[in-house]
Amino acid sequence: MEPDRTGGTMKKLAGADGPVGLYVHVPFCERKCAYCDFYSLENHGGIDAFPDLITREIALYADDRDPARVRTLYYGGGTPSVLSVDQLRVLQDAFRHSFRIEPDAEITIEVNPGTVDPASLAAYRSLGFNRLSIGVQSFDPGALAFLGRIHSADDARRCIRDARDAGFANLSIDLIYAVPGQTDASWYATLDEAIALRPEHISAYSLIVEEDTPLYVQVREGNVTPHTDPREAALYEGTMARLSAAGYDHYEVSNYARPGCRSRHNSSYWDHAPYLGFGPSAHSFVASSAEGPALRWSNVRSLQGWSGMIEKGERPVSQEEVLSGQEVFDEGIFLGLRANGLDRARVERLSGIRFTGRQHQTLADLVGAGLAVEEEGRFRLTPAGFVICDEICARLLVP
Ligand code: SF4
Repeated sequence: MEPDRTGGTMKKLAGADGPVGLYVHVPFCERKCAYCDFYSLENHGGIDAFPDLITREIALYADDRDPARVRTLYYGGGTPSVLSVDQLRVLQDAFRHSFRIEPDAEITIEVNPGTVDPASLAAYRSLGFNRLSIGVQSFDPGALAFLGRIHSADDARRCIRDARDAGFANLSIDLIYAVPGQTDASWYATLDEAIALRPEHISAYSLIVEEDTPLYVQVREGNVTPHTDPREAALYEGTMARLSAAGYDHYEVSNYARPGCRSRHNSSYWDHAPYLGFGPSAHSFVASSAEGPALRWSNVRSLQGWSGMIEKGERPVSQEEVLSGQEVFDEGIFLGLRANGLDRARVERLSGIRFTGRQHQTLADLVGAGLAVEEEGRFRLTPAGFVICDEICARLLVP
């Protein structure tokens, strides 16, 4: 099924499940980091035209008569903070023109500490951003150099302080552990410093060696040795314990929040809520409803290809997929266990598929083994369960 190109998609997005999330992918970075496989370009040719092209892409979806309500707006990338304040203003105006942004909407911008200063952070507040996601990654100079980051640990510290001074009351810090060459003590020093800075939210990811990255080549050629699985698992357990002791709620495999400060935008991905993505490589999702099955589509992963289609008045989509009930069911299990907990009744309602007796038994066994708990009708993994999350998902996916 092809989404309606004249606004039907947006009506569907604004349907039974209420407001939607919006994402804009800014495909520019000062320099590619060694481990990154997100779509982004060091060459900033095309950056001047970017805001206008996003504005035109928005117009391909917008329904002027019945604009969709928006509860979260997220600028990711790439590095959104390489855009000028004037360019961000154009984008914010375009979203406000075409959507009904709720007064208490969560509006996040990802920033690289090497690309902001007190003036730009103050300007972000005045443009309506109320949440910053700061790519700190580490306070260890050696780890930052290994990762190929453009900023220093002091830049990150300054960025956090300047963000508070600019009035941001909701900060998220991204960190990476299991960096080759980094000692466990160095990682825990980074984590402890991050906790001491009291951000509302911390994302702590283990370093993944993605194909088609310089890091992958280094590993393949034997120049870099990744952490072993047991060592990585031990760091994960230590990370969970420290963050939990500091009062952070572990609400997704890699995400931790102070009470009331979970990322509403990312939670909508994990809850199978509808979202619409703009920019090259951005993804969109519409949940199943009375109006039709669940849909997912992704934009062309090339600035040139994406721009060319928008200039022709076409939706810049490279792949569209209608999700079968079985796919919605399987994803519901996977996403639920990785994040806010598995809500069996909701998964059954959205997929039209019932859990089998065997699957009910598997969940009961997980609780019995201390790998999950049942709270308010949801099964949530315990720290021991999170360590073997993939294995648990695979066990549950067998009907
Ligand atoms: S700054 Fe972020 S998006 Fe850009 S290359 Fe580094 S990790 Fe990737």
